[in-house]
Amino acid sequence: MNLSSTAQSFLPPVMDWHGRSESFIAKSNNPWITTTEKSAFETTPDYKETMTWFKKLAAATPLLTMVSIGKSIEGRDIYMIIASTEKNTTAAALKKSGKPILLAQAGIHSGEIDGKDAGMMLLRDIAFGNKKTLLDRVNFLFIPILSVDAHEHSSPYNRPNQRGPQNQGWRTNAQNLNLNRDYAKIDTREIRSVIQVMNEYHPVLYMDIHVTDGVDYQYDITFGGLGLQGNSPGIAQWLETTYKPAADKDLTANGHIPGQLLTALNDIDFSKGNVLTAGGPRFSDSYGNIRHMASILVENHSLKPFKQRVLGTYVLLESTLKLLTTQGKTLKEITEKDKAIRLAKVPMAWKIPQMDGMVNFERAANVKISVAATAPPDSLNLLGIASRILKSPVTNADYVEWLGKPVTMTIVNYKGTEPTDFITRPKGYWIPPSCDDVIARLKLHGIKMDVINEAREVAVEMYRITKYVYGDDNHQLEPFEGHMQVSGTTKTETRKQLFPAGAVYISTNQSLGHLAMLLLEPVSKDSYFSWGFFQSIFQRTEYIEPYIMEPMAKKMLEDSPDLQKEFEEKKAADKVFFNDQNAILTWFYSKTKFYDDRYLLYPVGREF
Ligand SMILES: [Zn+2]
Repeated sequence: MNLSSTAQSFLPPVMDWHGRSESFIAKSNNPWITTTEKSAFETTPDYKETMTWFKKLAAATPLLTMVSIGKSIEGRDIYMIIASTEKNTTAAALKKSGKPILLAQAGIHSGEIDGKDAGMMLLRDIAFGNKKTLLDRVNFLFIPILSVDAHEHSSPYNRPNQRGPQNQGWRTNAQNLNLNRDYAKIDTREIRSVIQVMNEYHPVLYMDIHVTDGVDYQYDITFGGLGLQGNSPGIAQWLETTYKPAADKDLTANGHIPGQLLTALNDIDFSKGNVLTAGGPRFSDSYGNIRHMASILVENHSLKPFKQRVLGTYVLLESTLKLLTTQGKTLKEITEKDKAIRLAKVPMAWKIPQMDGMVNFERAANVKISVAATAPPDSLNLLGIASRILKSPVTNADYVEWLGKPVTMTIVNYKGTEPTDFITRPKGYWIPPSCDDVIARLKLHGIKMDVINEAREVAVEMYRITKYVYGDDNHQLEPFEGHMQVSGTTKTETRKQLFPAGAVYISTNQSLGHLAMLLLEPVSKDSYFSWGFFQSIFQRTEYIEPYIMEPMAKKMLEDSPDLQKEFEEKKAADKVFFNDQNAILTWFYSKTKFYDDRYLLYPVGREF
């Protein structure tokens, strides 16, 4: 049995589609026709064929330069195409040109590859078609395949929920890490390479191109930036009021059906509402937002044919370049304003005002809608697809059948716009050299820091961890993305702390100050603390023998009636403690000067 075609035969029905963007498909006599076009969008070229094609294209035109921005763990070059009318295309020279830069990447999830094929067609048309003017006032950086190793882990069985192409890459990279969970912790070479590009080229707009899974609807392309649930309000406004209308207009004119980003609250019943939240800096769009760089997440609809999806992406890329031609300067100015924001209290997360607790999309039915919410949520006029609920003879549970017929419904559009977990902005952070791995990662993000050459005593606030558990709301006591995540509670200590030579000071008075806070405050879900980079502080290594601690405890009680009282109360309140010699002696030990002061002390200092 051919399982691949079996999965395809179970996909919901699809509406016949034709649009003006079909005119972008190369004629068969075009020497630069792509494999995808030649195959009538049945297949997509592999890494080698793609890069060979780009090398030839770049060699044939002065408008394109191909550079490697890094190597994957399996040794493949991650290539980027620089499209520019500038003769010198180094980062410094492009900066000097003053033109706004669009950075677009495809294949972060390499089975969701539409962006690669769209970019090949568009760059071909810029070089040899009639679209050279797109570069008159804009420079364009394009990464055709970001997850290069996974792209070659190709099979017809990788994306059962997606309508083509036949050969699809894998979601995670060769280390089985999801690149779109890696923007904060930056374990992977792929994401480190992209961040390096951001640091060197300073793109004014960043676009990350995906394909969805999940519910059915009429839209073939959905996209957007973070709205008000983010840290770049000016950029958010521009994306909503300038970018989106312009892109929607071009897409519609070309026969596509653009929509906002969609995540059904309940994936068997879209009428229950849509949810839009900021996922935190582990995700490309939130990361861009926190860096104050306009960032757009593109999600093509997996149930639409590959051809339709590629052409929609082509239109969106072209529309974006066109818009930057006239709007690039304005967006740059808005970006500079957002970069200058220094909030006194910085939210570490955003929540949906109308909802209690976190949204767990896999178990959407568990979400409680709070009646106490002050503001009613927005609504959305959804271009949906009719569905019905079936009873499964296999699992005896309900599941959804999508019927292929368009329906329109007005649904609630929940947005995570309420800032929460506020942290007072310190003037800066002190990090000891023992945290060299964390320091190296902060540096890779482009965060500016000063190294001290002589030990220095600094008056700082530090966190003492009072309780910690492994895991977060979604993954308890199990690893996630190669890490045992940690969440905990803290109390603050004011200390005079000696930071050895080699320690670094990070001022929050920089455009990436906000990012630094999200990476360094333990309460942030994407901090290095939360990702488990500080687990050695959970270990106490020195101890006192009981034959010393027993008489010492006796003496301590004799010397202090207060301690005596505290001890009696603790024993009365805690039966386990009462019967545990080790716990009792540790309790006395913790009250002596012999106790390890660094145990459970988060080693990063906050200076005010
Ligand atoms: Zn994706």
